[in-house]
Amino acid sequence: MNVPSSSQRPRILTGDTPTGRLHIGHWVGSLENRVRLQDDYACFFLLANMHAFTTRADRPDDIRRDTLEIAKDRLAAGIDPERSTLVLETEIPAIAELSWYFAMLLPFNRVMRNPTLKTEIEVKDLGDRYSFGFPLYAVGQCADILAFRPDLVPVGEDQVAHIEMCREVARRFNWTYTKVAPEMADDDHLAHGGVFGIPKALVGRVGRLPGTDGKNKMSKSLGNVIFLTDSTKEIKRKLAQIYTGRQSMTEPGDITNALFTYVRAFIKDPAKVAELEDRYARGDEIGDGHVKADIATALEETLAPMRERRAALDGPAGDARVLEILRAHTDRANAVAEETLYLAKTAMRLDFGLRDLRMRP
Ligand code: ATP
Ligand code: MG
Repeated sequence: MNVPSSSQRPRILTGDTPTGRLHIGHWVGSLENRVRLQDDYACFFLLANMHAFTTRADRPDDIRRDTLEIAKDRLAAGIDPERSTLVLETEIPAIAELSWYFAMLLPFNRVMRNPTLKTEIEVKDLGDRYSFGFPLYAVGQCADILAFRPDLVPVGEDQVAHIEMCREVARRFNWTYTKVAPEMADDDHLAHGGVFGIPKALVGRVGRLPGTDGKNKMSKSLGNVIFLTDSTKEIKRKLAQIYTGRQSMTEPGDITNALFTYVRAFIKDPAKVAELEDRYARGDEIGDGHVKADIATALEETLAPMRERRAALDGPAGDARVLEILRAHTDRANAVAEETLYLAKTAMRLDFGLRDLRMRP
């Protein structure tokens, strides 16, 4: 296997939580960028299976199933296991260790004020029943990222607040343990002896795709998603559910609604997009049904090849193939993360030696 020479190329780290399968929001928000950047970056794509326990501690079977499903969705979407590394969070102990150290660098209230966390508590209806581990995941995510010392983190808009917190952690660590001033320009931290570079978020072409409920972010926990694996029939059924409130084909329509976000996200021909926008805005004999049919055709173009590649990974043979990749990739991922941990612990005067982690065959 051709191990990516991560020392020569800049690095990417990003990931998904196995709380369901991948959807078209993931595609436009992050996945598409991941597929595109595989040539130029050494890519590490995390499966945040430890963090899935923050809301699903009582559903280990579901987490395991979704971990494999997401791995398959990624391969079907064009992630190449020869060039990119799938990172199984639970098998990378450096992440859990760094989470502890980073938790000491962030004031509790700073974590709880994180707007992404607040929104999640609200829209996922967690009330005040969420576990202690739930807000901790935001700190853990800083460790997910920094363990791989990436240059770039391709994410959807909702994750930008988390990346900002991660950047803050990197600066605080560098200041506390290597005396690199927090005001130092982002790009100069490493040259001045910092352990961590300050990674940048890269938001996809559509930072926040609304769900089929027409209002919330498309989110696998909210049941408002079109999965990458959905059949043509299923896609049409889900699109049909999108309600815009428009009453007739001649009523001037609002081209900032969810439907038109889909038009701009998935219809590739700019002339076609412009024509639909123009006719819809004027109410020129065009119903929501017409627009939905065009979106369905465009989605089919993007998803059909993925569906085909995905079918080849179905069943026990597919599971075995994915598990084999995950084991091999865990060794690659641990090589990088252990190096990071060693550098961090050395800066923290915890320099008691290097250890070697290997998956057993
Ligand atoms: P959950 O409901 O469990 O939070 P999710 O659907 O939000 O699931 P995540 O695993 O949290 O998915 O996110 C994976 C990546 O996809 C992140 O970079 C996130 O910003 C991006 N993403 C998720 N949903 C969307 C969306 N609707 N539009 C654009 N990007 C998205
Ligand atoms: Mg999310």
